[in-house]
Amino acid sequence: MPVSRKLPKGKLHSCLTIDVEDWFHILDSPVVPGIERWPFLESRIERNLEAMLAVLDSFSVKVTFFWLGWLAERHRDLVRMCRDAGHEIASHGYAHVLAYEVGPRIFKADITLAKDILENIIGDQVRGFRAAGFGITKKAP
Ligand SMILES: [Zn+2]
Repeated sequence: MPVSRKLPKGKLHSCLTIDVEDWFHILDSPVVPGIERWPFLESRIERNLEAMLAVLDSFSVKVTFFWLGWLAERHRDLVRMCRDAGHEIASHGYAHVLAYEVGPRIFKADITLAKDILENIIGDQVRGFRAAGFGITKKAP
């Protein structure tokens, strides 16, 4: 079924935000492989993200993409493609760690690394951050 084009063309911004992760970054499952196995798994991010960018473009909608640093450093062209299409690039941390599980030292290192990677790729400051798995809690403020 074709997508309806009811929105006018132009630079429309939305409150839509999208976490950029691959299928093996799912949280809360004991069968999800650890980060040491991620490089050997089939990535599906390219085709899915390109399809998503096409849909967003067809409605002229701009969103915020919260990128995992681990994924961004392996798909630098996709990060730049999102940026070049007018979307905001933001951070979702490096390794999808839960703040309340890893503690402040590891969490800070994780988000600092992701921010550095993303800023290096886009050549601009990254201001947005979304914690993985709602990991910012009263236990990990
Ligand atoms: Zn996530």
